[in-house]
Amino acid sequence: MGEFPYTGQFDIHRVLPEEGTDRTTILDTLATMSAIENPVWEGGQCSGTMYCGDHDHYDFLNEAFSHFSYVNSLQRDMCPSSTKFEAEIIAMTLDLLGAQHVSDSTPAGLVTSGGSGSIAHAVLAYREHNRSTTDRPNIIKPETAHPAFSKAGSLFGVEMRIAPVDPVSTQVDLDWVRAHIDANTVALIGSACNYGYGTIDPIGELGAIAQEHEIGLHVDSCLGGFILPFGQELGYDIAPFDFSVPGVTTISADTHKYGYALKGTSVLCFADQAVRDSQYFFLTDWSGGKYCSPGMDGSRSAGLLAATWAAMVHLGRSGYRRYADEIFSTSKAMQEAVLSHSSLRIMGEPSFLFSFTSDDFDVYHVNDFLRTRGWRLNGQQYPNALHMAVTRPQTQPGVVERWRVDLADGVAYALEHRDDVARSGAIYGGVAGGPNDEADAFIKYFMAEMMDDQLRIPAL
Ligand SMILES: *Cc1c(COP(=O)(O)O)cnc(C)c1O
Repeated sequence: MGEFPYTGQFDIHRVLPEEGTDRTTILDTLATMSAIENPVWEGGQCSGTMYCGDHDHYDFLNEAFSHFSYVNSLQRDMCPSSTKFEAEIIAMTLDLLGAQHVSDSTPAGLVTSGGSGSIAHAVLAYREHNRSTTDRPNIIKPETAHPAFSKAGSLFGVEMRIAPVDPVSTQVDLDWVRAHIDANTVALIGSACNYGYGTIDPIGELGAIAQEHEIGLHVDSCLGGFILPFGQELGYDIAPFDFSVPGVTTISADTHKYGYALKGTSVLCFADQAVRDSQYFFLTDWSGGKYCSPGMDGSRSAGLLAATWAAMVHLGRSGYRRYADEIFSTSKAMQEAVLSHSSLRIMGEPSFLFSFTSDDFDVYHVNDFLRTRGWRLNGQQYPNALHMAVTRPQTQPGVVERWRVDLADGVAYALEHRDDVARSGAIYGGVAGGPNDEADAFIKYFMAEMMDDQLRIPAL
């Protein structure tokens, strides 16, 4: 990174200005910055991140948001609409994810602030629900499952046992999982699909193991929850992963990803309301009044609930299906372009999101080249691989063709430079010799530059 963003272009505020700036100037500033930043993804060359990409859809959500942006959804006496939005978001998501198959308990849900929020609440709920049987709970997650599980484990004192995955299929090693369950194991994790490779763990088998041991199974469908069900309807070969699978007890699904809502919401679904309720927080004897909140957040914007509800009700099943159709077929075409190169290999059997590596050269050379053509792919490690999360911006005309051409040129570049050190590998790639202190120091430096270094407050 270099200078503080927009230095020389806009004023830098190190202190709250004494006199305010007029609205027009501020809105012009914001419009200028977003006009500079939007083209990075608008052309469809950026992996993931922008799931819908239509500015008219965003305008519609912003308008929905504007009606309730300033409302605190905790104050339900003032905003019964929040109850309607939240309950309907949960009900529609439960229905989409097969909750009608649950017969021996009452399904329920929780709207959270994002995928990490849904995962954190699931880990907390499993810990609290099993309080009477263990004070040293552990959960087993595939190595490929999202870091949010490890983060939640660290926050809540729940041990995460990291199960290895098969290097070819990238699916979790079931024998390892079986061998590492003990009396303190409260839940297993499977991803549908995982973020890294877009592959789906064997949820049916995990469900059977969970049932046998009478423990939970969380399916992380943060990414897949709002697209895989439609991929199934469209005839793609996707194994059942939802509440129709015996043993699945919770599912996370991000409305702010393929749910095409605004950033800031996700749904955590529970097969059993009692598990959700176990993580509720109450303080009934506080001098400030009786307090309760459904999850970790206190005040939340009712605007986000309204916008999420608006996205779901507006798109409907046919809208989601149509988008899924475009995304799956675009992904298939992009994967075919990868497979047309004998030096590239796709990791496992992916769905709409795929990742590829090379046994012939460091695939980061391909990334180095693709960057010069405006592509922005995510880098992975062990092995070095590049990940493309196909979203709606890639479904625009011409993007697949550009991918084909640029990838071919990238492979030629990689073959030519195979004996050099790839540039982008230093940032994204695996650290030689595995994780070490140097990598930790690098991340700390990176975070400091992002958060602190640019605007240190001068001492008095
Ligand atoms: C994005 C993602 C998460 C985390 O979600 P955030 O919304 O970034 O907090 C968890 N799991 C998977 C599979 C994801 O793709």
